Amino acid sequence: MSSDDSDLLFPAPAGPDGFEFDPGSGDGLFGDGADDGGLKPLLGDDYYMRAALKCAQQAADAGEVPVGAVAVKDGLIIARSWNQVELLKDATAHAELMLIASLPQVVGDWRLDGIDIYVTKEPCAMCAGAMVNSRIRRVVYGMRDPRCGAAGTALDVTGFPGMLHNVEVTAGLMEEECKAMFQEFFRTVRANARKKKSGFTPPA
Ligand SMILES: [Zn+2]
Repeated sequence: MSSDDSDLLFPAPAGPDGFEFDPGSGDGLFGDGADDGGLKPLLGDDYYMRAALKCAQQAADAGEVPVGAVAVKDGLIIARSWNQVELLKDATAHAELMLIASLPQVVGDWRLDGIDIYVTKEPCAMCAGAMVNSRIRRVVYGMRDPRCGAAGTALDVTGFPGMLHNVEVTAGLMEEECKAMFQEFFRTVRANARKKKSGFTPPA
């Protein structure tokens, strides 16, 4: 594991499925192509999902439901966001929607052609609808949401026939890691609620 991974919450596992950061490859985005005579992307989907997980941790640290998202264009992360419903007292302040709302400032257009979103949980109907309307190319999500997921699990907003645009979906990437963060968050919330109810204050 290189020192470049030191700020990542979820360093890649070694092995055929994990992305291993190569410290000798400059900024890590592309190899030097010495072997095959051309540039080749080194960063796989796992890399961007780990960045989204880092954003989700920001939400968890602030007491928000831990959902994080990043936007990627041409291999570069161009924006990051996380759930801020409680902070902003705004039911629409989901990670993906805030990300989409911020992107026109980055790319200068409401049409987000060629942009992929990586998010730790399957988008809800609102966020999936925003992805369709803004023409997001692909959404890669971690944890499936059987109750409200609108990227193919409970609803299929991203692939609904007749929509002006369909969003390509990659489901369940690093699902265990994404789910673990979610479960840990709600375990802590429940434990705190129990402590509050019983009046128990743990020793410092
Ligand atoms: Zn949403």
